[in-house]
Amino acid sequence: MIPEKTTRHITWQGGNCLLCKYFVPNDPINADLLERGKCAHPSLVKFNLVVSGRDWCNLYSEVSEKRVEKLIKEAYKKDDEQQKTLIEESKRPGNFD
Ligand code: SF4
Repeated sequence: MIPEKTTRHITWQGGNCLLCKYFVPNDPINADLLERGKCAHPSLVKFNLVVSGRDWCNLYSEVSEKRVEKLIKEAYKKDDEQQKTLIEESKRPGNFD
């Protein structure tokens, strides 16, 4: 369970891609209206659309709180893995030259 303190800055606004269940934000942890991401609607995904949180279409369907929590949880896990990799890379002399 993610502590509320770490998620309270996240803004999910209704009526647009940001709150659509098909929106896959690039950064779910910090997603706001300006966040960009992919649209995964079954009839739109083939177009490889890049949408922002403030976009909208008539296929909108509200995301569940469970889905939002899942995206955030996965993002934190990915961030932890990236941080571990960076720590290892930082130990190698000249790795950032
Ligand atoms: S483009 Fe439409 S279906 Fe896709 S995320 Fe936005 S509102 Fe949802």
